[in-house]
Amino acid sequence: MDFQDNQQEATFRKEVKEFIKREMSPDLDRRGQGGAAFGGGSGRFNQKGYWPALTGWLKKLNERGWVAPAWPKEYGGAGLSVMEQFIFNQETATAGAPRSPNVIGLGWVGPTIILYGTEEQKQKHLRPILNNEAFWCQGFSEPEAGSDLASIKTRAVRDGDDYVINGQKTWTSGAHGAQWMILLARTDPQAPKHKGISYFLLDMKSPGVTVRPLVNMVGAHDFNEVFFDNVRVPAENLIGEENRGWYIGTTTLDFERSGIATSLTHGQTVQDFVRYAREHQNGSSGRAPFVRYELADRTIEAQVEQMLSFQVIGMQQRGLVPNKEASIAKLYSTELDQRLAATGLKLLGLYGQVMRGSPHTEMNGRMASFYMYATTSTIGGGTSEVQRNIIAQRGLSMPKN
Ligand SMILES: Cc1cc2nc3c(=O)[nH]c(=O)nc-3n(C[C@H](O)[C@H](O)[C@H](O)COP(=O)(O)OP(=O)(O)OC[C@H]3O[C@@H](n4cnc5c(N)ncnc54)[C@H](O)[C@@H]3O)c2cc1C
Repeated sequence: MDFQDNQQEATFRKEVKEFIKREMSPDLDRRGQGGAAFGGGSGRFNQKGYWPALTGWLKKLNERGWVAPAWPKEYGGAGLSVMEQFIFNQETATAGAPRSPNVIGLGWVGPTIILYGTEEQKQKHLRPILNNEAFWCQGFSEPEAGSDLASIKTRAVRDGDDYVINGQKTWTSGAHGAQWMILLARTDPQAPKHKGISYFLLDMKSPGVTVRPLVNMVGAHDFNEVFFDNVRVPAENLIGEENRGWYIGTTTLDFERSGIATSLTHGQTVQDFVRYAREHQNGSSGRAPFVRYELADRTIEAQVEQMLSFQVIGMQQRGLVPNKEASIAKLYSTELDQRLAATGLKLLGLYGQVMRGSPHTEMNGRMASFYMYATTSTIGGGTSEVQRNIIAQRGLSMPKN
């Protein structure tokens, strides 16, 4: 792999740098604020003036197709290469620019619709994701089906031009704010379990949908239980063929696990830590000298993570959907998330435990919530054990256990 920009990439990088310098309001700079790795950074949305500044910034990006740079132009992207998209993400991360909050829509719903949707579905759903008019949630997991996702019991029964949905989803991130859901439901209970599942686009305003909050250990309402009581979904909202949803669902998970954006955030987070350590050699926590070797390790690991992202990008560039490669990147990235959070806590000493809102916080009081959120990184999107199984079976051709 050639790590140098080619001529076209170098020109694009320059254009992005100049755009950021010209257009990004300083209020949006996430550097030193903890960034997305610190518990999602959602607290910033409550800061006065942040939301208007963010929407203004996203509008400017959208005018250039830069909310999703690699999406085709006809669907509101800029038609750029995956590498150019990565360059865009690198430059915005380096400048501390915020990303769109529409993480699921942009990260894995849009790419799935582009790959498997009908032309009508693409026309209807892609632009509202870019404009933040439609937020999406992911209705895959159920109380008895997480790692063993193919065991889902939620039923979809064809009735005229509709399917009728009954059942329950759980851990559904953002369902309380979402307009739409990607939903896996069983359409053929007699078929082998992977072969009787279909993939739907569900309007969350449909009668019979109930969303109940699940509050996590940080005290935040991020995910939910979602119940379906005779919910009617038009047959035109089926993605791909009936009973072929499992295969589309695994592609969605591959997009989710690629985690390219996280590798950039981690690089930024290590730099925040190093900056803090330099500024506080003998300062408030007095811990900085004791974690220098860990900071060196985390710096190296963040670079390794980026190399794994390059592997994923290289495949996407060639039109391939990374599979075991996405699992390798996900496994490495989420376990690094936890090591980073632990290093951050050590760096701040007892101050690391002080939550946002106290006058005694360091680094905006985000370290405690980062640490707690990091425990979930190795579960959401498929646990580390599941990633290891995929790597063993599909990467190393080992037999199924
Ligand atoms: C922060 C967060 C956000 C989430 N958001 C969403 C969402 O938006 N939409 C959604 O659908 N789901 C979401 N989930 C759910 C997530 O996908 C599941 O929690 C995950 O797949 C694990 O399933 P489970 O919780 O049922 O655990 P289980 O599958 O019951 O696993 C329990 C333990 O057993 C281990 N285990 C299970 N099977 C095997 C095996 N074959 N080999 C080795 N070990 C195994 C697991 O690794 C785990 O340690 C979210 C989860 C989290 C933590």
